[in-house]
Amino acid sequence: MTQDRTRPDWRLGRRTFLKGTGALGAALALQGGTLLDPFVTPVAAAESGEEIRRGICDMCCIGYCGIEALVKDGRITRVQPWADYPYGPLCSKGNSILQQVYNPERLKYPMKRTKPKGSDDAGWQRITWDEALDTIAAKFKEIKAKYGAEKVVFFVGDPKEEPRPPMQRLALKFGSPNYGTESSTCARAMQMAATLNGGGGLPITAATKTIVLWPKNPPWSMARDTWQIIEAKERGVKLIVVDPRLTQMAQMADIHLRLRPGTDGALALGMARVIINEGLYDADFVSKWVTGFEEFKAYVQEFTPEKVQEITWVPADKMVAAARLYATNKPVSWVTTASPTVHHANGVQNQRAIGALIGITGNVDVPGLKPSVPGVSVKDLTEWRQLLPPLQEKRVDLKRFPVWAELVEEIQMNLLPEYVANGELKAGLFAGANFRMWPQDQEYRKAFSSLEFAAGADFWLTPTMQLMDIVLPAATSLERYGPIRIAGRKVFLPEPVVPAVGEARGDREWIFDLAKRLGLGADFWDGNVEASFDWQLEPLKLKAAELKKQPKGVDIPAGAPTPASNNPGFSTPSRKFELTSGILQKHDVNPLPVYKEPVESPVSTPDLAKKYPLVLNTGSREPMYVHSRHRNNPRLRELEPDPKVDINPKDAAARGIKQGDDVILEGPRGSVKAKANLTELAMPGVVHIYHGWPQADINTVTGRNFDPISGFPSFKSELCEVRKA
Ligand code: SF4
Repeated sequence: MTQDRTRPDWRLGRRTFLKGTGALGAALALQGGTLLDPFVTPVAAAESGEEIRRGICDMCCIGYCGIEALVKDGRITRVQPWADYPYGPLCSKGNSILQQVYNPERLKYPMKRTKPKGSDDAGWQRITWDEALDTIAAKFKEIKAKYGAEKVVFFVGDPKEEPRPPMQRLALKFGSPNYGTESSTCARAMQMAATLNGGGGLPITAATKTIVLWPKNPPWSMARDTWQIIEAKERGVKLIVVDPRLTQMAQMADIHLRLRPGTDGALALGMARVIINEGLYDADFVSKWVTGFEEFKAYVQEFTPEKVQEITWVPADKMVAAARLYATNKPVSWVTTASPTVHHANGVQNQRAIGALIGITGNVDVPGLKPSVPGVSVKDLTEWRQLLPPLQEKRVDLKRFPVWAELVEEIQMNLLPEYVANGELKAGLFAGANFRMWPQDQEYRKAFSSLEFAAGADFWLTPTMQLMDIVLPAATSLERYGPIRIAGRKVFLPEPVVPAVGEARGDREWIFDLAKRLGLGADFWDGNVEASFDWQLEPLKLKAAELKKQPKGVDIPAGAPTPASNNPGFSTPSRKFELTSGILQKHDVNPLPVYKEPVESPVSTPDLAKKYPLVLNTGSREPMYVHSRHRNNPRLRELEPDPKVDINPKDAAARGIKQGDDVILEGPRGSVKAKANLTELAMPGVVHIYHGWPQADINTVTGRNFDPISGFPSFKSELCEVRKA
């Protein structure tokens, strides 16, 4: 979205999108709900006696669109897009934020358990914030004195933007490097691959001639990115989509490569072979800026079009056409994706192979080679660059995932059951945690229960919060102050739109309060949240008090460009784009982006595939939900009331399954029951099920098959069978 997008443009964009995708596209766009809600018939706020206040949406984990809340008598009556804010409009989730804020299931007060863990009923008893925070502080001090500060783990799930920085600061100031987040299964592995190579792709600009989505479906995962792609398509930009699913974006593609999940690396290496062998690579860029080209060239020779077709199920001629288009219709831009390519046991290497296409075709900017205008930034509240190194040796993941530990400033959380069982973690503080985010999640549920002491903050008394000793009510994004928002060259500091329900508090506020009780007041501005914003804003010479009075934000002038560096280069050991990674070599990992079959597949485990012949693909988004969130939002639940298994009509017919049938999806480790959804969205031979449903918890089926480099699970490439219930 651009800042000058207006409502009529949005409506036109939507119509264009539906027209451009054809009837099936329209059906898919609207399947199970709406891509973007139509605007409610506007009634002028002045006429209705409402006051317009502005805040930020965090109903999904990365959008942060602007919301205008219309407020009367201290309550929000309705919401609409914040017209002047750079990010928007509101999707179906943003338009349903009222049903989150005023949901009767909201956790309103701090509570403590009065019955032992493992009891059916925790015996929750309301307590004061003072008692809750004093108890947490006393327990953490006790654990620190007895075992060491590193035995306390600090974790942030989703929502994440507000709690992450203060929580990480709290962990490090307390003396524990063991701070982790839900990024242990989200975007970090993809970022690791880019770091190991030297860089990611170019963003979409007016110069872009080809866009690659490998894979991503913004209409369902990040609605506002959709328009940028539609606009590019309308001006003639070519679109390559790599995705097992026939998504809306795939239907708009010039070339859609529909691959077997988990074989992305083989596909990328096959494309690289075409580009290299046909002389379509950027020889000048490669000679100046790429390492390992000759080894890479030799390695890709085994990925002939025929072999790639056999591995990936992508027709050879389509793969070759995509490689030629990619290499000749430049510049090529990538729309960054989070996890589809890295939810496999060879995920980082697969993603590195995809990234290698960027390097050999020179579709990447060399940092420091040209003058550049620095972006707007504020001081990092976490200060991890100074605080983490002295604690690094005490990380629980240091020996298990050494590449991750070198590259990522938070621990890899996916071995939580092992950390707890081995006594490496004894207590924890969790904001928005959910044990269902992990494969074989019953083991994580047990790990939470086995901690000597655990406290959590959330909007709801979720099944995970039920495992805590103390629960704290968290304020939503419309009820709290901050955090600082930067959009382009504009800076915003949202104030609460309405008072929080019950005694809910903003995460920064209660974390600062806890820090004081841990004797860390001096490191947390003595609990003064506004003073912490002032400290962060120092580089911009702004004060929080001034900024919060500017609902349209403050423009930060660009200033003079930074001149080209006299030592330009990538942030790799060689300062070049590395097809042979120096960091992987140091850790005795194959430095080339080698391909390996998924740990469970028709190829690697043919006997298992006789019983479970379908590839199980989980973890993608639907428009109305984000992971496990919003199932209790009545407006959104209406759009998608039941868990469903997307299955291709051919696979369904072979099993006598009809639309809407109750089906059992079974894998080697368990099964779930859901409704059959017969759809061309699902590739023949591959079924997809959405995660986060308590009554059809697919992570009781997925396995703990982790990528040894990133620690990521294989959510998208295991095996299963589907039958009528
Ligand atoms: S994309 Fe939707 S849910 Fe996400 S911030 Fe924007 S309106 Fe909210």
